[in-house]
Amino acid sequence: MKVNYLIVGQGLAGSLLAWHLLSRGQRVLVVDPEEEVTSSKVAAGLVTPLAGNRFNIPKGLSERLDYAHSFYWSAEETTRSHFFHHQRIARLFRSKDERETWEARIAEDPGAYKKFSGPSSLQNNKILAPHGSFEMKGGGWMDLPKFLSATRYHLLERLGYAIGLIDPDEVEVEENFVKWKNIEADGIIFAQGWQGNQNRFFDWIPIRPTAGDILDLTIPEISDVSHIINSGGWLIPKGEGAFRAGSTYRHDLDDPYGYDEGRTEVIKKVNQLTRAPFEVSSQRTGIRPVIRRSQVFMGRHPSQSRIFFFNGLGSKGVLNGPWHANRLVDYILDEVPLPECSDIRSNFF
Ligand SMILES: Cc1cc2nc3c(=O)[nH]c(=O)nc-3n(C[C@H](O)[C@H](O)[C@H](O)COP(=O)(O)OP(=O)(O)OC[C@H]3O[C@@H](n4cnc5c(N)ncnc54)[C@H](O)[C@@H]3O)c2cc1C
Repeated sequence: MKVNYLIVGQGLAGSLLAWHLLSRGQRVLVVDPEEEVTSSKVAAGLVTPLAGNRFNIPKGLSERLDYAHSFYWSAEETTRSHFFHHQRIARLFRSKDERETWEARIAEDPGAYKKFSGPSSLQNNKILAPHGSFEMKGGGWMDLPKFLSATRYHLLERLGYAIGLIDPDEVEVEENFVKWKNIEADGIIFAQGWQGNQNRFFDWIPIRPTAGDILDLTIPEISDVSHIINSGGWLIPKGEGAFRAGSTYRHDLDDPYGYDEGRTEVIKKVNQLTRAPFEVSSQRTGIRPVIRRSQVFMGRHPSQSRIFFFNGLGSKGVLNGPWHANRLVDYILDEVPLPECSDIRSNFF
């Protein structure tokens, strides 16, 4: 079998690459072992344009956010599936200082913040907002499991998907193609998530896997809340009093799926957001692929021109991933230079 590109892993990263290569007329084969628990299957999928407590507008945010919206809208149209939920986000201030930082930012450059923020419309006395809040615009959440399965069907219809595990040691690199089992490809792209440096080609990339926990809750007393509540911890309303809450960042991976510590921490965060009583119905834990903060890293292997890397989506993969996938595909197919800050060769080699 011959394809243009073999993609290792069908998480968010591999899926985004597949869409972008297909849209450029390339034939792909995406291979994934279909593990029950992966970062993409566990993630909350939040898009919070103004993350962090300094409220800086990251460079290129507007372009990345617009690109993500239009990409997901188009993938929804193609697959006749709905996975991206635009939703109002109430960002609660954690302290008087934080509120003052926000006010100073707005005063410095009101025009820049207009696209991403406005006055709060949250009205619920069971939500704890003693320092006030503002409304974050342009955000929402993505149902990642739904996006992954819509993508898988889309690929299957094009004979572009297989269940399996690609052992990098079984990848043969020839001058004009790469070969894995009976498949020949122009190139191979590794999008393996947190396992991305357990790989003879990319073992020099410093991935810092970060475990995270999410709880499903019922909070009947705030069932009328329709905003995502965000303030360090977060709550996503799922309807009829059901909420998803998170999250944690744990670097000690001796026991990554050790539920108790994560559960206690998320419960503490929920108690800071609402005074309403709640019941935990389930818990999920996943491992995020973090390289440097939530910065995406990508590019070509320094000595193997047919081998590529796409990883580091961190906790902002839904927002940043599509724009970066587009850049990587432009680079692979047309040699359009990569942004230097994302290029693995200029950062790690
Ligand atoms: C608790 C938690 C909350 C999160 N919340 C958010 C959020 O709100 N917003 C957000 O944007 N992001 C969030 N994230 C992060 C988000 O999950 C990641 O950015 C993104 O999903 C990572 O996608 P990925 O494809 O790089 O990795 P993964 O999802 O890990 O996918 C990698 C895939 O590669 C496969 N694979 C690995 N090795 C091989 C091999 N040798 N052969 C074949 N396949 C292989 C794996 O099985 C897996 O399916 C969260 C993550 C967690 C854990």
